Amino acid sequence: MPTLPDSIRSIPHRENISFGRLTTLGVGGQCKILFEPTHENQVCTLVKTFRQEGWSYRILGGGSNLVVLSDIEEPVIRLNFPKVLKVEGREITAPANFGHIRLSQAAAEQGLSGMEYAAGIPGTTGGALHMNAGASGRELVQILSSYRSIY
Ligand SMILES: Cc1cc2nc3c(=O)[nH]c(=O)nc-3n(C[C@H](O)[C@H](O)[C@H](O)COP(=O)(O)OP(=O)(O)OC[C@H]3O[C@@H](n4cnc5c(N)ncnc54)[C@H](O)[C@@H]3O)c2cc1C
Repeated sequence: MPTLPDSIRSIPHRENISFGRLTTLGVGGQCKILFEPTHENQVCTLVKTFRQEGWSYRILGGGSNLVVLSDIEEPVIRLNFPKVLKVEGREITAPANFGHIRLSQAAAEQGLSGMEYAAGIPGTTGGALHMNAGASGRELVQILSSYRSIY
């Protein structure tokens, strides 16, 4: 990994982490550099800087659908946003790193139906969105009203 540009040096990051510690199956190569931004402004800065530097990057959620067998040289981003929900009427807004199962529990606690399918699907809400997670004939896209993405 080349020297980090000043713009991203202060964003929380760790080096040489085993994917075994980052994924559900507990196996894998090394993550050479893992960024764990705590705010979406930091994600924007990371993405912008990677673009400027010509670096590709990867996104990691809960690691429940990944087996990373080799070392990954590209920077990996795993969100570490505060896990705060916003409830407005029949809509819940969650940060992408919010647990998918925990979100279905929160919906039930609010008396909202529709997320029962998620009760046994591990990982994050962002990962579930990327994968369109589903079970028992139901899938996330059926209850999604909107999302915001950073690319
Ligand atoms: C025991 C078990 C049971 C499972 N049962 C089901 C099931 O019934 N139905 C089902 O659909 N799946 C199931 N899965 C698979 C897995 O849980 C889902 O695919 C889950 O939605 C993945 O979420 P994650 O956060 O772990 O994503 P990860 O595994 O970390 O990543 C998966 C993909 O999503 C991308 N991604 C993750 N977060 C983001 C983000 N914030 N923004 C953009 N891209 C992102 C990653 O780059 C990667 O390409 C199961 C897995 C296990 C281990």
